[in-house]
Amino acid sequence: MSDAKHIDAPLRLFNSLTRAVDPFAPIDPGHARVYSCGPTVYNYAHIGNLRAYVFVDTLRRTLLWKGLDVTQIINITDVGHLTSDADAGDDKMEAAARASAKSIWDIAAHYTDAFKANIAALNIMAPTEWTVATDYVPQMIAFAEKIAATHCYQLDSGLYFDSFTVPDYGALAGGRDDAAHARIDPVAGKRNPSDFAIWRKSPPGEQRQMEWDSPWGKGAPGWHLECSVMSLDRLGHPFDIHTGGIDHREIHHPNEIAQNQAYHQAYCGCTDAVSGFTGARWWMHNNFLVDRQGKMSKSKGGFTTLFSLIDAGVHPIAYRLLCLGAHYRSELEFSAHGLAGALTRLKRLIMGVEGLKARAEGVTWQSPRLDYLRANLHPKLIPLLEQFDAALSDDLMTPRAMPLLEEAIALKKVPVDEKLCLIAAFDQALGFDLLTLTRADLRITPKDAQIAPDEIEAELDRRTSARADKDFAASDAIRDALIARGVEVMDGDPLRWDWRLALG
Ligand code: AMP
Ligand code: ZN
Repeated sequence: MSDAKHIDAPLRLFNSLTRAVDPFAPIDPGHARVYSCGPTVYNYAHIGNLRAYVFVDTLRRTLLWKGLDVTQIINITDVGHLTSDADAGDDKMEAAARASAKSIWDIAAHYTDAFKANIAALNIMAPTEWTVATDYVPQMIAFAEKIAATHCYQLDSGLYFDSFTVPDYGALAGGRDDAAHARIDPVAGKRNPSDFAIWRKSPPGEQRQMEWDSPWGKGAPGWHLECSVMSLDRLGHPFDIHTGGIDHREIHHPNEIAQNQAYHQAYCGCTDAVSGFTGARWWMHNNFLVDRQGKMSKSKGGFTTLFSLIDAGVHPIAYRLLCLGAHYRSELEFSAHGLAGALTRLKRLIMGVEGLKARAEGVTWQSPRLDYLRANLHPKLIPLLEQFDAALSDDLMTPRAMPLLEEAIALKKVPVDEKLCLIAAFDQALGFDLLTLTRADLRITPKDAQIAPDEIEAELDRRTSARADKDFAASDAIRDALIARGVEVMDGDPLRWDWRLALG
């Protein structure tokens, strides 16, 4: 029996509002409400975008680990996001539709499905609900009507939010930066550079694929409006945690906060009480995945997708592991080398768990909750449980938590079912699916492989015979022929993988 007091580390999360790691408690005891900015579905997600959702999933799994229920919303942006995050440029969806001569609705459906396939492949838990921006246009208009008289002004191009009508505009970004807005956002007639569109009127004579009637003319909502409206509708304001990539800390989220404050003011009839009201208590941001070869820009194209990694023979969970190997607030540099290392680490984990499962034949184990573990775990495993809980509770320190999984697998003189019980619990928090994945699952044949696995095995058998006959010339020739066809031959590989296809 263990002492539960030592295991429950207080959960602390970095809040971009305070720029500090603060103790977290949900507004409703026992239940956390989370809203995550979702993808803009005019193209495939690149692997950088997906890092944002691995982070969100780690947050969700940590809240569950801490015994909280979680309601989580992820939105699908299918209207309103312009080619700049502010008000400049064209709607990304309209531009994609023009470029491909397809309807926006078809484009949105295709890339939404692709995004959900990526999420499933990365073992990211589906949110409680996906909300789609175009389903919420009437609510967006109603929200805008509520704040229009007090916080907005009209121009020929639409309805704009006056950023001087709320206190501390831009505090989340570290303060108002009108000079930066002026550089990116040259909309004629705006009162202040950081003012932003609530409603964009369709230009005269231009027929858009997506437009709606509104009190400010036919047009489409500004991008920031959807997240204020959908979070309010599905979670209520204030809710607990709002997430997004670090880029959203600069424009999108400050604008959401300004809208939330304005709406709150209109709703409660209060005048100066909105300064501390931001709509969500925690604003959390993942740092970027960066690629020195510049393959991380959705709008420029030519970027790396999860599909392209799978086509190159990499199991998607290796990418998940790569992400969790860095803290979510650190920049992570992507490289083929780093990804190959993550794949090897995943293989080792799976081999370790496969070994334990083979020894535990006939014994059942479960994926227990923390309270079960506290009460029942073998004393030798308790320090690992404590350290794991402390790492996750310390602002989701996955790089500190992952080696504890490896330690648990390697630990000697502990009954195998006890170990599996702890490993299952760790795995539930990290989401690698280690108890189900097999080594065979990891062997993904690259799409452009010039040789099939059966043929490689046959060639290697021939090589083994040649070596047994001491015919080293023949053995070397077989090996060279395999290398020429993209097969790396790995004699004496400790993971017992005799070969692998070189990553594309
Ligand atoms: P988008 O589909 O462009 O709206 O972006 C979806 C999510 O990906 C947002 O939360 C972005 O902040 C985030 N994001 C964009 N680029 C990266 C990157 N390179 N690394 C991590 N997150 C990113
Ligand atoms: Zn958003």
